[in-house]
Amino acid sequence: MQAFRFWPDVLADPLSPAMVFDIGGTWFRSAHFSPGLPLAQVQHHPALSFHSDRQASAASLKEGLLAYLVDTALAHGARRCGVSLGAAMDARSGQVYGSGPLWGSDCGGLDLPGELARRTPGVRWHVANDVTCALLHYASQLAPQSPPLRKVMLITVSTGIACRTLDLRTGEVPVDSFGLQGEIGHLPVAPAQWAPRRTLDLCCDCGGRNHLAAFSSGRGLRNLHRALRQHVHPLWAGSLLGRLRAAGVEHEAALADALDAQDPYALTLLRLGTRAMADTLRCALALDPELDRIVLTGGVSTHLGQHYLDALATHFDEAGLYLTSTFDPGYIMNRIVIATPGTADGLYGAGLQMKTAAREWTS
Ligand SMILES: [Zn+2]
Repeated sequence: MQAFRFWPDVLADPLSPAMVFDIGGTWFRSAHFSPGLPLAQVQHHPALSFHSDRQASAASLKEGLLAYLVDTALAHGARRCGVSLGAAMDARSGQVYGSGPLWGSDCGGLDLPGELARRTPGVRWHVANDVTCALLHYASQLAPQSPPLRKVMLITVSTGIACRTLDLRTGEVPVDSFGLQGEIGHLPVAPAQWAPRRTLDLCCDCGGRNHLAAFSSGRGLRNLHRALRQHVHPLWAGSLLGRLRAAGVEHEAALADALDAQDPYALTLLRLGTRAMADTLRCALALDPELDRIVLTGGVSTHLGQHYLDALATHFDEAGLYLTSTFDPGYIMNRIVIATPGTADGLYGAGLQMKTAAREWTS
């Protein structure tokens, strides 16, 4: 199957500076991109999404995205643009299938590269998934190792959850017959078990039930908290998290502070919220022994940091990989890291995928 191909030496490509975009559910970002140099003139624009404008139709939101990209590119005189897009899409063609963070449950599709080319005949556009772009940025900074890493998986744990795996030996992000890979957020998982034989079911943003994102995404953790506190009310009522929330501290900050203080309710919430993620990671490592590194990024994992890793480690202590974890108890956790800030940036990765595409186009 045709795959997205990445070669680190694209950084040496002498093509002229170009523009890059990162389109997410909270911000639209743009910058000037030059290989090997920091991004320049980074600008933020509030995202046009069904969250920011509940009255807008999916069609008008897509039109707004097109207008933003076209107007910004033309205003800067760009002739070549790379776009990192928070959407499920065909990696081979750039055809967009849908985007929960941008357009909700709409699945009308969008030929984004085609529409952009039609509106700006003098500009060449390259569109890729934002998780792929973040992974390319991370991989471009990897120092040589002995033995060399074979595959790197990047998982974003934020509003939603998705992952991509890059084979460092071939430079490929393999895809299926629809140009997809790593859409793990909507895989069914076991419901959260908060007491023996007592479980919680949660609905997912996509409308499904008990998906990975329903428990482990940022929105999932909040929904899990709302459901859990009713069942363990004494624990919640006496918790530091409860006191911080009552004092007006924002949820994510309060959760991090409560975890710092080993608050039993916060620890329970994070344990339940990471269970499905641990199950998914364990399964991934069992099926692909060439996964030498798993990088976590996105607000949930980066904000909670070591607490997030500790929660995962607890699950793997309870159940690791058959035989492998007996031979090497640290096998799973030795492969998992949280990306340091700025090392898995879809905006920079949009430039790397653009240069990769340009190299293939000209070869
Ligand atoms: Zn779902």
